[in-house]
Amino acid sequence: MKNEILYIVIPCYNEEEVIEETTKRLKEKLNNLIKNKTISKDSKVMYVNDGSKDKTWELIEKIHEKEKLFSGISLSRNRGHQNALLAGLMTAKEYADVVISMDADLQDDIDAIDEMLDKYYAGNEIVYGVRSSRKKDAWFKKTTAEIFYKFMKTMGVDVVYNHADYRLASKKVLNELENYKEVNLFLRGVFPLIGFKSDVVYYERNERFAGESKYPLKKMLNFAWDGITSFSVKPIRFVLSLGIIMFIMSLLVLLYCLIVKILGHTVAGWTFIVCSIWITSAIEMLAIGLIGEYIGKIYSETKARPRYIISKNLNEK
Ligand code: UDP
Ligand code: MG
Repeated sequence: MKNEILYIVIPCYNEEEVIEETTKRLKEKLNNLIKNKTISKDSKVMYVNDGSKDKTWELIEKIHEKEKLFSGISLSRNRGHQNALLAGLMTAKEYADVVISMDADLQDDIDAIDEMLDKYYAGNEIVYGVRSSRKKDAWFKKTTAEIFYKFMKTMGVDVVYNHADYRLASKKVLNELENYKEVNLFLRGVFPLIGFKSDVVYYERNERFAGESKYPLKKMLNFAWDGITSFSVKPIRFVLSLGIIMFIMSLLVLLYCLIVKILGHTVAGWTFIVCSIWITSAIEMLAIGLIGEYIGKIYSETKARPRYIISKNLNEK
């Protein structure tokens, strides 16, 4: 089953400082894999220019001219990492049997590719690259990322811990990915939903060898928020729970107010006002939560995700 066509998809946004070095390292890697017949000689690296404002695209064109091992697509404008990645994956699946996605800065160890391919040839449809440690990451990045993964878990989103977008996916998986039509894209959450046999490969994460992170804090927060709100209705359900708690509390307050009134420790009108405030706010909170539940349902319906994916069918010849 070996000798399949591999495409490596790499989104690039203002990466002129790194793209040549990345090309050099990947060329060596791919040529070795082709020589061992692990992958076909039609395999390629495909850069996705995500509306870069620097010379990234010119460089990609130049590299492609020189080496047929490298190709590229260019988006009409900057659409963000996840969309650029999706564009790359959807284009690559037309030509490839198996696709690996990674970042332009090679922070993800390219030697893990061999192991990913081994696991793919052993029958896995998705292989997740997982960082075994984050020693090389700055303290801030490391802490925020760890909080992010923990928070996602408590919010009920199924993500692979410490896995970014370094992953192998077969053509079969990418064909299914096409059916996830959501606009707020969080690929890390979608792949586990697709299912199929999968495995993980551990690797050490390196420092960016040149240039700066294209994920400033604002983009990072947006990304995390997208991840939670596109996969979980827990935040909405929280409002409903709050409503229920407030309602129970308001009954206790009611009791307290009555006792105080009977004991005669109140001024005129106090009982009525306090009880009204508690009961009306509790009812409001309950009502908002209830409406939220329906909005949550509408939200999941509008995403029109596939309800099931058949992995094997014995009816086929
Ligand atoms: N990227 C992109 N579009 C964007 C931002 C980033 O295509 O709007 C790419 C970027 O070129 C890189 C990858 O996404 O290949 C990951 O970005 P980066 O390495 O800056 O993120 P970090 O490793 O700091 O999380
Ligand atoms: Mg990076």
